[in-house]
Amino acid sequence: MPGNVRFRYWKNNAGVDIVLVALTGLLLGALLNLIIIRLPREQGFGGWPRCTRCGQRLAWWQIAPLFGWLLQGGRARCCGRRLDALYPAVDLITAATLVLLYLEHRLSVSMVYSAAVAAVLIVTGAIDWQHRLIYTLPTLGATLAAVLVASGVPFHSALNALAGLLIAGILFVIFYLLARFLFPAHRAPFGLGDVYLGMFIGAALGLTNLPGALLYGMLLAGAFSAILVAARRLGKRETPQYISYGTFLCIGALLYLVLWGLAGARSIL
Ligand SMILES: [Zn+2]
Repeated sequence: MPGNVRFRYWKNNAGVDIVLVALTGLLLGALLNLIIIRLPREQGFGGWPRCTRCGQRLAWWQIAPLFGWLLQGGRARCCGRRLDALYPAVDLITAATLVLLYLEHRLSVSMVYSAAVAAVLIVTGAIDWQHRLIYTLPTLGATLAAVLVASGVPFHSALNALAGLLIAGILFVIFYLLARFLFPAHRAPFGLGDVYLGMFIGAALGLTNLPGALLYGMLLAGAFSAILVAARRLGKRETPQYISYGTFLCIGALLYLVLWGLAGARSIL
């Protein structure tokens, strides 16, 4: 089980390299946050960061990953408005992901590939959480990239990627049609974006890992829905009416990837 390998490495070698990987993770998290903030607002990627609330130029320490949010106590220093806790969460999740992947794979093709897949999952999940939006072209582009490089990644192959893409695609188109049929009047709780995301997860993790990756996401989405229903029953009025299904698919696939890795199905079976 990969957990043991990681623990052994941690016990025998924990040192400067892990601190460096964690710091790299925080920097990567800051980069992902830049995409999460700017892509939906259709801002370019040049230019100094500005406050997401009032648009003022930020001081260098305000944009420091994780620490900027902590130093400001979760409120923008410029205008006093609350900053979304999503951004420090992205920093933390990215750093933790990178450390776990490093402990499992060390610096290798598997690590770089898994980190790239994780980055796509984190950005997609965060944007879907904030905007209920999954981009068609970037998601399909990442899917195509996963298929193209799969043959060079250990425990993965082009065939595994294509089979994962195909099966996930068929499964999610069925979900999509069911949602359209069951909720014709409402905005569908399950959109075409979720179909593309499912195809990406299928291609990136491969058919062998698809059931595990989807299961984690579906269990998380189910648990969160149950909490929402309970909160509404208890009369909490501000409870959201919907969940961002894609966010849970992303968290589930990410969790599977860091816990089991691409050889996941092999270690479980
Ligand atoms: Zn501000």
